[in-house]
Amino acid sequence: MIQINKVLPYLGIIGLLPLPACVQGEKATSQEPASPNVIYVFPDQMRNSAMGFWSNEPYASHINYKGDPVITPNLDKFADEAVVFSSAYSNTPISSPHRGSLLTGMYPNKSGVPLNVNSSRPFNSLPDDHVTISDVFSRNGYNCAYIGKYHLDLPTPNDPDNPGHYVEGRDPVWDAYTPPEKRHGFDFWYSYGTFDVHKKPHYWDTEGKRHEIREWSPKHEVDIAIEYLVNQKGQRDDSKPFFMMMSMNPPHHPYSSLDDCMEEDYNLYKDKTLGELLVRDNADTTMQKAASAPYYFAQVTGVDREFGRLLAALDSLGLTDNTIVVFASDHGETMTSHGVNDAKNSPYTEATSTPFLVRYPGKLEPRVTPLLLSSPDIMPTLIGLSGLGNMIPEEVQGENFADYLLTGNPSSPLPQSVLYLRNLDGDRDENGKVVSYFPETRGVKTANYTLALSIDQESKSLQQTYLFHDAEDPYQLNNLSLSDYPEEVAYLLEELAQLLEKVEDPWYKEKILSDLVPYK
Ligand code: CA
Repeated sequence: MIQINKVLPYLGIIGLLPLPACVQGEKATSQEPASPNVIYVFPDQMRNSAMGFWSNEPYASHINYKGDPVITPNLDKFADEAVVFSSAYSNTPISSPHRGSLLTGMYPNKSGVPLNVNSSRPFNSLPDDHVTISDVFSRNGYNCAYIGKYHLDLPTPNDPDNPGHYVEGRDPVWDAYTPPEKRHGFDFWYSYGTFDVHKKPHYWDTEGKRHEIREWSPKHEVDIAIEYLVNQKGQRDDSKPFFMMMSMNPPHHPYSSLDDCMEEDYNLYKDKTLGELLVRDNADTTMQKAASAPYYFAQVTGVDREFGRLLAALDSLGLTDNTIVVFASDHGETMTSHGVNDAKNSPYTEATSTPFLVRYPGKLEPRVTPLLLSSPDIMPTLIGLSGLGNMIPEEVQGENFADYLLTGNPSSPLPQSVLYLRNLDGDRDENGKVVSYFPETRGVKTANYTLALSIDQESKSLQQTYLFHDAEDPYQLNNLSLSDYPEEVAYLLEELAQLLEKVEDPWYKEKILSDLVPYK
């Protein structure tokens, strides 16, 4: 019936023969479109430039830096069918804080997840009572599936195979088993907390059974996703739409050997020089990390192939037309840029700028958009695109851009800037457990500039500034002095103050650097 509903308007417009009796019933006269399925695929550490199409027109002229020399035929084709965001940003570019915002539509100070989740930070975990994107879809008649890395649930001694023990024996514990009562509406589960052995992954299924796999994780996860789409084992109710999140760990370190990627993909890059692979003007090919480049891009190409396999399965099942598909990532990867070893958690474009492509056939006109998208905007926008805009929880802080994406007309002014946030561990209790977070750096990114301010943990005084003229210096080679750009800095600080107030950030509440930031 879903297919018939989709086809009806076109039959009417073209004035084709009278509708057959079987579609002239109740469904045939309904103007309500069937609810779309939603698939959200997000590899972990994939930077925006690591998609091949950015090197070709019409895409290349929408960015002012070089695309990576990466082979991604499936994403290149998908881009032609999608809205491609040039300016989607991971506001807190590390795993758990981004994921907290992605699921709740809130900034990390509200989502419950300001830091990466592990057992040393017991306060830092997705709260049971937050209403997530999956809760909303589940309550509105969807089946919800989570496949892959979760990294939002605090590791506790709840190993289903070894009750009273953690699922791993290190300190702090990173990996986690998420029991049914903490799954936020996901009724199909095939997931783990965090684990980085790419060819020996493991997962806990809906019933809590652990699966040890000896296969590259994205390949296995797409197999599970395709089984879910085919629904051979009754994984979902065929009469309901579904919402599926797929978090592939690659690209994610380690990127150091054939244990980390598929050999066929590595072979595409192994004969290239580091200079040919690391094309950004700020890359440092003398760093030890530079040797990771062929493995990193091999992981990207492998992810692309698996994404293509998922899309092909959708096609063959006739689900493409009524399924919103998003390709995104957690955050980027510096990969020797700026000479830093930290892959993420910095205000540099390589860390913050992420892929974001949305395909909704017949509804979203394929194009490139410069819309500044923040992590918390994703949840309300996807709910909005699915026709459930009035179901967005009140406490959501992100913007619903569905109308703008569907019609090209914004229902409210479009953002001129996005926040950058870096949190560090705060106070510890007598057992050494972290009990708070320290909001070390706050900044804004506009179409033209990046500004970020870091403070000292003790004195809360200004410690470091970042100011880049991204429009003229896309590789952020020159950290400018604030005093040399008074007008620009005044505008950026005004934006920063407004955003910090809007999200009720600790900097606003404590009026941090109030001599500099013009809080109201
Ligand atoms: Ca991550």
